[in-house]
Order: sequence, then structure tokens, then C-alpha cells
Amino acid sequence: MKNIIIFGAPGSGKGTYSDEIVAKYGMGHISTGDVLRGEIKNGTELGKIAKGYIDNGQLIPDELMIDILAKTYDAQTKGQGVIFDGFPRTIAQAEALKKMLADRKDDMGMMIELVVDEETLMARLLNRAIEQGRADDNEETIKKRFEVYRNQTAPLAEWFEKEGLRHTFNWKGSKEQMLAEIFEAIDAANK
Ligand code: ATP
Ligand code: MG
Repeated sequence: MKNIIIFGAPGSGKGTYSDEIVAKYGMGHISTGDVLRGEIKNGTELGKIAKGYIDNGQLIPDELMIDILAKTYDAQTKGQGVIFDGFPRTIAQAEALKKMLADRKDDMGMMIELVVDEETLMARLLNRAIEQGRADDNEETIKKRFEVYRNQTAPLAEWFEKEGLRHTFNWKGSKEQMLAEIFEAIDAANK
């Protein structure tokens, strides 16, 4: 399987669709948000640093994040392809990922972009706050995360476009439809 980068705003469904892709294709899954939340839960030094940024809706600095990603990737079982969920989020992270994979005789495979309007995103995240109690899912922090996404992450879509890897999916109100379109694109890319 080709590697997959799943890309989109907070609440766009990166984790949800990653789980579905893993269930169907048996790929590896690296969610940088989950890695960081695990570090916070375990009270590690890294977790303490990460918490300051996450609670503020800001990105963890690139150098630190790139190091975490490489360590997590190298600890994965290889051969089945990996989904990168929540990474890269900046151009610097994208360049670093490209190089890291090339050094390992691997590549980025394909990028799946999830496009959802902010009103829908906000409603989903406020609902997730009730269900999962994530500290950064409150209205004030969500607004900061949207702003960070617009300014620092969204411009990356063009970068992927230039790499010839971008596959865009627009939310039209049905998870099943979205999933069917995503599976079709994955199958076509792996033919
Ligand atoms: P969702 O997972 O619902 O799409 P999200 O993208 O906001 O929402 P996560 O991917 O779990 O959530 O990330 C949560 C926080 O972790 C981010 O707001 C950021 O502070 C930090 N983080 C995660 N990945 C990165 C990254 N690649 N670079 C910098 N910071 C990151
Ligand atoms: Mg997530």
C-alpha cells in the first residue's frame, strides 16, 4: 500500500477516516495529536512542553515535531503503508517528511484533503468536547486552531498540489459517501 497523508482542518474527520482506512486496508496509523496526548497523559517532559502549545491552540515547534514523527515512524511495523494523520502541518514539516521518507527509500504516496465548512467543524468539535472532554475543544481554543490552520497549514495544500499528490474531498453531508469516494481514490492510486 502507498502511504497516505490525511489533511484537513481541526474536526474535519482525519482520525475518523483514518480508522476506517486502517480497518479496510490494514495500514499503520500515526496520529501526531494522539502521540502528544499520550505524552501528556504519561506526564513526560515532552508532554509538559506539548501541553502549553495544545491548550493554546498553537502548533508544537517544527524541529520538535519532526523529531517525534521520525521516532514514531521508525517504531512502526513496515510494509503495509502508513497513514500520517495530523502531520505535516507546515511547509517545513512537509519538506522534512519528504526527506525522511526518501532517506528510508519510501515516499509520501498520496495526500487526502478533507474540506469541511467552519460552521460544521465548530459544531462537531463542540459535540466532541461533550463526548471526549478534550481540553482544546472549547470555543475559544477552537477559534485559535482554525486561525492557525488557515495561516500555517492550509497553504500546504498547494505544496501537495505541486508534488502531484493532492486528492480533495468536499463534505456533502454524508460520511458514507465521503468514505466511498476516498476508498475509490485509494484503490485507483494503488492499482
Ligand atoms: P482533528 O484530529 O479532529 O482533525 P486537530 O487536527 O485539531 O483535530 P490533532 O491532530 O489531534 O487535532 O492535534 C491537536 C493539537 O496537537 C494541535 O492543535 C497541535 O497543538 C498539536 N499538533 C498535532 N500535530 C501537530 C503537528 N504536526 N505540528 C504541530 N503541532 C501538532
Ligand atoms: Mg485527530
